[in-house]
Amino acid sequence: MKTQFETAKEFASQYEICNAHCHIYPTKIAGKASDAIGKFYDISMDISAGTSELLINDAKEFGTKKFLVCSAATDPSQVEHINSFIIEECRKHPEFIGFGTLHADYEGDFDKEVQRIIDGGLRGIKLHTDFQKFNIDDDNALNIYRAIEGKIPVLFHMGDKRYEYSAPERLARVMEMFPNLTVFAAHLGGYNAWDRAEKALYGKFQNIYYDCSSSLFALTPERAVELIREAGVDRVFFGTDFPMWSMESELIRFKALPLTEDERKAIFSGNFKRFFGI
Ligand SMILES: [Zn+2]
Repeated sequence: MKTQFETAKEFASQYEICNAHCHIYPTKIAGKASDAIGKFYDISMDISAGTSELLINDAKEFGTKKFLVCSAATDPSQVEHINSFIIEECRKHPEFIGFGTLHADYEGDFDKEVQRIIDGGLRGIKLHTDFQKFNIDDDNALNIYRAIEGKIPVLFHMGDKRYEYSAPERLARVMEMFPNLTVFAAHLGGYNAWDRAEKALYGKFQNIYYDCSSSLFALTPERAVELIREAGVDRVFFGTDFPMWSMESELIRFKALPLTEDERKAIFSGNFKRFFGI
């Protein structure tokens, strides 16, 4: 009998894989950050700390080509510090594609910080409005989209039935206001709010992409595939939400999805490489 690890490894060896959703933190807070996220979601984290080293280590046996790494500023005073940290990590690790962050209550100059993000080689920003405690469509959050529209995409944490900060309908409102804004809507557009994402987002906006991170554990394989196809197979990325889930556990879940070979390839890396011109 093969172990789960061996099964995952054998499965991964057939594909090129990009991981489109990874959180990294400075080593001295990475353990604490992982614990806090686990408590927030009442989920036991697969990986004990979100460091670059553990991320690379987790992927080592599974041949990951690229990692989208990010970190969201829970407090506006952290914005510049986090952006500098992600820029630094991406310099050390050429396999990383970095997303910086902003906050609706950021007191600095949005345009200037966006320029620093771009000049530092980062490719987008990450917002987790449930942690940041503002609504995606709040008036002061619109300053963020004004500053990045037409320049770099924003990866949103999406959905959570306990909160309305990142409700799919709020993102739909923003998409209507900013037609040139490119968005990655994490967790298939709404963790625990998939029915709402389906209605508010799927098939409606040309500039939305999705990732299937932190979704497969909560959906039946049939329902997950239905959502992926409705969202658009050519716009969904694979991701583990590191340090939440390990490659091993997400690969086992992904393997169970009744997708075609072409669909698997598109989600594992084809869509991601096309988007980033790799
Ligand atoms: Zn995230």
